[in-house]
Amino acid sequence: MPPPVFRFAPSPNGYLHLGHAFSALLNADLARESGGRFLLRIEDIDATRCKPEFETAIYEDLAWLGMSWETPVWRQSEHLAGYRDAVEKLSAEGLVYPSFESRLDIAKLIAEQNIPHGWPRDPDGAPLYPGTARALGPEERERLLQSGAPYALRLDMSAACAQAGDLSWTERGEGPKDETGTVAADPAAWGDVIIARKEMPTSYHLSVVLDDALQGVTEVARGQDLFWSTSVHRLLQELLGLPQPTYRHHRLIRDAAGQKLSKSTDATSLRELRAVGASPAEIRRRIGLA
Ligand code: GLU
Repeated sequence: MPPPVFRFAPSPNGYLHLGHAFSALLNADLARESGGRFLLRIEDIDATRCKPEFETAIYEDLAWLGMSWETPVWRQSEHLAGYRDAVEKLSAEGLVYPSFESRLDIAKLIAEQNIPHGWPRDPDGAPLYPGTARALGPEERERLLQSGAPYALRLDMSAACAQAGDLSWTERGEGPKDETGTVAADPAAWGDVIIARKEMPTSYHLSVVLDDALQGVTEVARGQDLFWSTSVHRLLQELLGLPQPTYRHHRLIRDAAGQKLSKSTDATSLRELRAVGASPAEIRRRIGLA
């Protein structure tokens, strides 16, 4: 049996906080205990929010925690051609279509529906895309593409689900799984998700599944907040013929008020804690890692 492969995949859009430290150390600990490998991946496809100084800080903060990882580090911005190929494959199968509405346009389209009990929302609470652009005729679609208007490529969810059939994943963490640790995937709950954009040939969902496959990741240990995203990941793995890792969604570290930590509040950032004299051992204790 080849050794298991774990990864930590932060986005360089802010400084790492205690929640990241938990995820990173947990992955490294699991890799060490199982004789596995530990990889680092920089998820830097959001050009407006990702900054080189945050990437540098990720390396510094993880090294300060006493961590090491294999090099070269996988940086998503260096792998756009592979993402583009995958989008083309989905497109050739008729599973994606361009949508041209802004967020505001979508909100208006939904308001016009006048649904008394509220419009359906995805597991993150965002309203589902109403599917308007799926119904555009080929000429109108071509006209809009030629006009240079911005667009997002969306997955035709019902066609994709029909092609993929029933899906599930093996869960080693918490969550609504059966006694064998199997969770039934429900990608349809996300509606026609965005797979790529005009200016960026990928999305979080697409690059995460491609990279996990290309990096040979066998064990995905990540925060509970991404639990239901796994439904979309399983669907894309199936459509693209990629292997499926095992998942372990872990608890989230919360602040004193019980809120999930965010990058915008730096009270729990590792650099801030280091600056006031915390040691790596104290960080481990604070997040409940022996
Ligand atoms: N880059 C994602 C984040 O910072 C994590 C992706 C994953 O672990 O699948 O939340």
